[in-house]
Amino acid sequence: GQGVLTKEGHRPSCNQSEGKMIIVPESQIPALVTSADCFVAVEDVFASMSKQSAYNFPVIREAIGHADALYGFKSGFDRESLALGLKSGGFWPNNIHKGLANHQSTVFLFDADTGKCRAIVGGNLLTALRTAAASAVSIKYLARQDAKVLGMIGAGHQSTYQLRAAVEQRPFEKVLAWNFHPEMLSRLEDVAKELELPFETVDLDRLGAEADVIISITSSFAPILKASQVRPGTHLACMGTDTKGKQEMDADLVAGATVFADEVAQAVTIGECQHAFEKGLITRDDIIELGAVITGRHPGRSSPEEITLFDGTGVALQDLAVASAAVELALSRGTAIEVDF
Ligand code: NAD
Repeated sequence: GQGVLTKEGHRPSCNQSEGKMIIVPESQIPALVTSADCFVAVEDVFASMSKQSAYNFPVIREAIGHADALYGFKSGFDRESLALGLKSGGFWPNNIHKGLANHQSTVFLFDADTGKCRAIVGGNLLTALRTAAASAVSIKYLARQDAKVLGMIGAGHQSTYQLRAAVEQRPFEKVLAWNFHPEMLSRLEDVAKELELPFETVDLDRLGAEADVIISITSSFAPILKASQVRPGTHLACMGTDTKGKQEMDADLVAGATVFADEVAQAVTIGECQHAFEKGLITRDDIIELGAVITGRHPGRSSPEEITLFDGTGVALQDLAVASAAVELALSRGTAIEVDF
């Protein structure tokens, strides 16, 4: 934590930069924003969503017919923190040949009182940090306190952020991992080593039989994990499914779990819940907003045997919250670039 990240800290500090627009470039983010900062920001905004103080606008995502790119906007407003704005960007598959990340995003924040553009913030690293923060918040509130074994499904770009954020929530003693492309697992193993955690690559049967918490973060379009492979008491953080058609968990596994989501509307349309919902196995009313657990309106896990599942679809308000935190940190450290606009 950086001390400035209180509720008040998220408010635009108008006195410091009246009339100026602030730029926080991607290159500044690694030294500026920690995963702990993002955890606080995401936990706060999930709570605001549950209190109906914050809401996300409908997501736009389009294949633009150029460079094979998928381009979109995610936007929203938090009346508590006054975070207003959007994250824009998407997926440019050919960037790899240009030495650039395939996923590109930028956050634009607007002054909620005047509509003036308040800040432009590089959104690539923040996306990974806020996604990892969401699953970490779900682990904090839903995993068993005595969880010891962490199961990881997926070994792509996002996976290492997920692993780092998860280990801050429970004293995990071991990491078990599986990936569709086994050759990618070494990147997770390197991080586990750095964290001084024993690491084993396993098949899905063993992963499900031994893990207390399972994070899935793949771009799969077919179920990976089946209900029969998951033991009672497990917490599943399903983070990869963020588009119509993607799927990591069998619909029966979702239907048999107590299901939580960042946002119910996204869960049933683009999240892991979409398949169980389309099959009529669950309704919107079966899905609990994680924010309701954070604010104490829902008790969360009800027994050590319950299987809890968090469907983290990724909402605009997460992006606005962590970008606002980045702006405040840049201002407090004197690294913000301020321009007349
Ligand atoms: P990446 O391209 O770096 O890695 C892809 C991962 O998916 C790898 O583990 C790969 O082995 C696996 N995979 C690829 N094809 C597969 C298949 N057919 N079956 C099973 N697994 C397969 O991607 P990334 O940046 O790590 O992102 C992973 C996923 O997370 C993507 O689907 C991405 O859209 C999603 N994501 C979600 C959020 C959110 O807020 N929920 C945020 C960012 C990314």
